[in-house]
Amino acid sequence: MRHTRHGWWLEEAGPVTPARPLGGDATADVVVVGGGYLGLWTAWQLLQLEPELDVVVLEASVCGHGPSGRNGGFCETLWPEAATLRERVGDEAALAVCRASEDAVRGIGAWCETNEVDAWFRAAPMLRVASTESQVGSWGDVVAAAAALGASEEIVPLSAEEVRSRCASPLFLGGAMYRVNATVQPARLALGLRARLLGRGVRIHERTEVTGLDRSGVAKTRMGNIRAGSVVLAANSATTGFPGFRLSLAVASSHIVLTEPVPDVIEGLGWIGGEAVVDSRTLVHYTRVTRDGRIAFGWGGGAMGRGGAVSDRLELDRSVVARARQSLVRFFPQVDRRQITHAWGGPIDVSPTHLPIFGSRGRIHYGFGFTGNGVGPSYLGGEILARLALDRRDERTALALVEPSRKLFPPEPFRYLGGTVIRRALIAKDDAEDDGREPGAVTDLIATLPRRLGLRLPR
Ligand SMILES: Cc1cc2nc3c(=O)[nH]c(=O)nc-3n(C[C@H](O)[C@H](O)[C@H](O)COP(=O)(O)OP(=O)(O)OC[C@H]3O[C@@H](n4cnc5c(N)ncnc54)[C@H](O)[C@@H]3O)c2cc1C
Repeated sequence: MRHTRHGWWLEEAGPVTPARPLGGDATADVVVVGGGYLGLWTAWQLLQLEPELDVVVLEASVCGHGPSGRNGGFCETLWPEAATLRERVGDEAALAVCRASEDAVRGIGAWCETNEVDAWFRAAPMLRVASTESQVGSWGDVVAAAAALGASEEIVPLSAEEVRSRCASPLFLGGAMYRVNATVQPARLALGLRARLLGRGVRIHERTEVTGLDRSGVAKTRMGNIRAGSVVLAANSATTGFPGFRLSLAVASSHIVLTEPVPDVIEGLGWIGGEAVVDSRTLVHYTRVTRDGRIAFGWGGGAMGRGGAVSDRLELDRSVVARARQSLVRFFPQVDRRQITHAWGGPIDVSPTHLPIFGSRGRIHYGFGFTGNGVGPSYLGGEILARLALDRRDERTALALVEPSRKLFPPEPFRYLGGTVIRRALIAKDDAEDDGREPGAVTDLIATLPRRLGLRLPR
């Protein structure tokens, strides 16, 4: 098995020649910091709103080489957060967010088609399954939330037989189906977006790290500064390194293992509808097939980042990879361990509520906190940030994701130490439930701490 820093998707998508770094001081109408989905969609939406706008993207590495180019490619809505949304912002606002997030999934599919980007976009439902007895029925709150919002067709409970008719893992004991969902080849999407932006005249400077921001509209780098009418901060977990954002998010991590092409296994499972599958553990497993007949399998149980920094361990933790590999074979015993060929990981920007957050401070407009669900919602984030940057208000900027009431994580060292203790308790709890044991009382208490404190957990 090969551990690759940037993941298999980027290899499959082919090599990219990095764009030239910034070569001195410059000006722009809008400068975007970060060339992942959020920054790139924002640049795209800015041009949709004002085609003549002068937009610059500054990217520390190469666009799409962060999580945007190496995630699981689940292109989801925000329906999985329907219960949280109802609780926090009420029914009308919750429904508006969920519907806007559906538009985002469809918008990505339409964008790929119109712009002739073959990102393997495949519309197919997402199954949330129970992989242990203890998980059965755990989807009750989201199913009820969708029904209460008058949208019971969006999240439909399924029996064990119904789940297995779509993907016959012996572990699956029932589940719920999210109607609107898709999968993508994440790196093809990110690089396709980068190519189309370059084609439309957006100046992209790669290997150009932004070292400071000024509220008056200046992005500072070691190669020069850019003064702009608006600055968009779309730096994912690196957002914690910018003053004023240190406690706004925590950094967790997720890892993926990938098989060689196993079309016979996929066919044997009857997994021919392209469904994305996620289980109902606290630190979830997620799995999907690829166009060329591989199974990708992820686990969100990686280490926490210290002080918000993205350490090597978040990008590749061999013990986490070993567990993901073991779990893949448990889910799909037809796969031989030797057929698992690639592994990689990356940071997850965890927001206190599990929901992404967008807002403005002076001329700086920011977005972060996708908590493992950023592929679909970053398109919506791009629509929101483009409007904030141009000071245009409409139904997108009125969504409850914009300037929500503020919740912060505790400061270091409590954020890292607390997060690590809670993570260990969550793993112990999930492991006990996998084995059909009751988790101990102390483990259970620690594992429920985030919820008791009003915080949500990474996916
Ligand atoms: C292993 C893994 C699996 C995942 N699976 C899924 C999934 O299946 N579905 C899903 O919806 N989400 C998934 N996610 C999460 C998803 O990848 C992210 O939510 C999404 O990519 C966020 O996009 P972004 O633009 O905010 O961040 P990024 O892709 O991280 O882009 C931010 C960019 O900012 C750049 N940057 C940072 N600091 C600076 C600076 N100072 N100056 C200039 N540039 C800077 C970085 O280099 C990076 O390229 C997964 C994540 C991981 C790690």
